[in-house]
Formats: sequence, structure tokens, C-alpha cells
Amino acid sequence: MCIFCKIVAGEIPAYTIYEDASVLAFLDISQVTKGHTLVIPKTHVPNIYAMRPDVAEGVFKALPNVASAIKDAFNPIGLNLINNNDQPLQSVFHLHFHLLPRYPDDGIHIGLEKATPNISKDTYEAIQSDIIQHLKNES
Ligand SMILES: [Zn+2]
Repeated sequence: MCIFCKIVAGEIPAYTIYEDASVLAFLDISQVTKGHTLVIPKTHVPNIYAMRPDVAEGVFKALPNVASAIKDAFNPIGLNLINNNDQPLQSVFHLHFHLLPRYPDDGIHIGLEKATPNISKDTYEAIQSDIIQHLKNES
């Protein structure tokens, strides 16, 4: 049983923020910033690729409520929603979403600067096509 499944089962203590039938939210033990919270499905799902729509529905219904509570509690200047999949970025292989409130001078840099200048229309369309052809029809 993975460490997050043990938290869900009550075998390991956690600072629970929110719980319903399918979702658990608890403080990340590292507290990268004040209020750093993890939102997880109670069922073991290793990563986003294995997340079925019913699991997504539960998680994404809970996320705005928990995010808003963090915002109201600590008045951050912003909040990052972060989900890491696969090594080396994912450390616990039970799907989880970080709610990371941000504060002035918190020293964290998450940059999504444009890495490739002057991308052609053909290149955009090739990338678009490469992804679309792998979409599955599921609801
Ligand atoms: Zn698990």
C-alpha cells in the first residue's frame, strides 16, 4: 500500500483539510509555502494517465473549494496548481495535486517562458496533429 493510501486508510496521520467520499485534502508535510496542500483521489491512481473521468470529477469538484479556503485563510498573492507525473518529478506514485499558495518574495520560480522562438505555422500544426491523433473518446 502506498503512503497516500495509508493516509486515506488512517494508518498514517495527516493534517486533513477536506474529505468527502472520493477525495482527501491534507497539508503537504514539506509546507513549501504556508498552506501548501495536497488534493488526492481516495482510490489509488498512479498518475494522470490512469485517471478516469469519474475520479477526475471528484477531484476537480473539490479543488476550487480547498483553493478558495487557502486563499481566504492566508491572503496569498496567487496560487499554483501543480501536478507532476512520472520520474523524476513525481515522488509519490499516487496521483496528487499540489495547491501552492504564493507570497511576496517566497523565492519560488515557476517559469513557462517561450523556449523556442519563431515557431512556424507548420510546426504548430504538426504538434497539434501529433497530439489530437492520440485522443481517446471517453466521457
Ligand atoms: Zn495509493
